[in-house]
Amino acid sequence: MRLVLLGPPGAGKGTQSARLVEKCGIVQLSTGDMLRAAVAAGTPLGLEAKGIMDRGELVPDQLVIDLIDARIDAADAARGFILDGFPRTVAQAATLDVLLAKKGMSLDAVVELVVDAGELLSRVENRVRETLKAGGAVRADDNPESLKTRLAAYRLQTAPVSCYYAEKGVLKQVDGMAAIDAVSVAIDQILAGVG
Ligand code: AMP
Repeated sequence: MRLVLLGPPGAGKGTQSARLVEKCGIVQLSTGDMLRAAVAAGTPLGLEAKGIMDRGELVPDQLVIDLIDARIDAADAARGFILDGFPRTVAQAATLDVLLAKKGMSLDAVVELVVDAGELLSRVENRVRETLKAGGAVRADDNPESLKTRLAAYRLQTAPVSCYYAEKGVLKQVDGMAAIDAVSVAIDQILAGVG
């Protein structure tokens, strides 16, 4: 199963990805997680990405394309993967199609979690509160200023990715405002239809 999970920050992509990893035995490939790991390790890639990420802007397409290209080839991705946070631009989506085709692969499904824009800020604020309560570290870009930029980047650069997949006839939309379990059921139903 090869799946793209689309949706703005706070839509619940991470939560639903974790459930799919458990259920389907596939891996979650989050470009955000990979970039944060590079930042934490202080690699040249991390140094290039850090300021961009902290501001809430998107890193250059080629940077994340190279990460995904290499990661898809890893042994643990052989059974399938969920792309979380990638592709985020139409150029990334088009390049993904090309690089999957080169590997003899294609996507089984593209699922978009649709959430009210007005709800997103409070969802992320909630995530920050919960993280702090659990004694965890809050992401550098989970602050009001960066979040505004991240939501604008989503609207301008990532929303067209949904259109890209809709035009190809592969986009499935799920009501991301529903309860977490109900969202999981809706995704399961979609995947049962394409598996
Ligand atoms: P995320 O964890 O998916 O919210 O990503 C955190 C940050 O990493 C984003 O705000 C971007 O700066 C960067 N990032 C993650 N994935 C991508 C991507 N596919 N394209 C460009 N930038 C990305």
